[in-house]
Amino acid sequence: MQESIQKLVNEGKMLPLMEEFYTIQGEGYHKGTAAYFIRIGGCDVGCHWCDVKESWNADLHPPTATEKIVQNATKYSDVVVVTGGEPLTWDMTLLTKELKNRNAKTHIETSGAYPLTGEWDWICLSPKKVKLPEEAIYNEAHELKCIVYNKNDFKFAEEQAAKVSEDCILYLQPEWSVREKMIPLIVDYVMNNPKWKVSLQTHKYLNIP
Ligand code: SF4
Repeated sequence: MQESIQKLVNEGKMLPLMEEFYTIQGEGYHKGTAAYFIRIGGCDVGCHWCDVKESWNADLHPPTATEKIVQNATKYSDVVVVTGGEPLTWDMTLLTKELKNRNAKTHIETSGAYPLTGEWDWICLSPKKVKLPEEAIYNEAHELKCIVYNKNDFKFAEEQAAKVSEDCILYLQPEWSVREKMIPLIVDYVMNNPKWKVSLQTHKYLNIP
């Protein structure tokens, strides 16, 4: 990447945009809500079951002016979900400021592995064992979404739940490729531990992005 463009990316004035689309939020608290998704490239967390591995290398995604991203997004929806990749790889300050200037609700889906930047109406924290969240984000999260790939993930989920605020909504979500095996275990777990709720990737059942 050219040095001048890299500088703009580092400042959050450009972002490596992988894709953007208007759809229905499929997961978590806002499932069923129409929203514009902005998927930012770049992630070095390295979940082995990641379903967007093509997002990892930021260099594959064109640096795009943040202002242009905002203009596109707000044409479609006043709920904008920023996802990745790991969006907090980048400085989210300008993106969220401009979205809020246009009265959009700003939502983020993050592993929390990097410092929280930006002004968010909704923070969905989805911690990953391989690169734990920064401590400061736990108290800010509105929902905690723990992905269940195997039985050990229930213990990890409890460890993470102990760190978030009392108001944070707790979700267990099966990793898609093992959903048939894990859903019965999650259902049992939630019935025995009702502070948790089940989250499913309903957009995949609906066959939408
Ligand atoms: S944090 Fe998200 S994008 Fe990054 S590897 Fe894990 S699942 Fe994939």
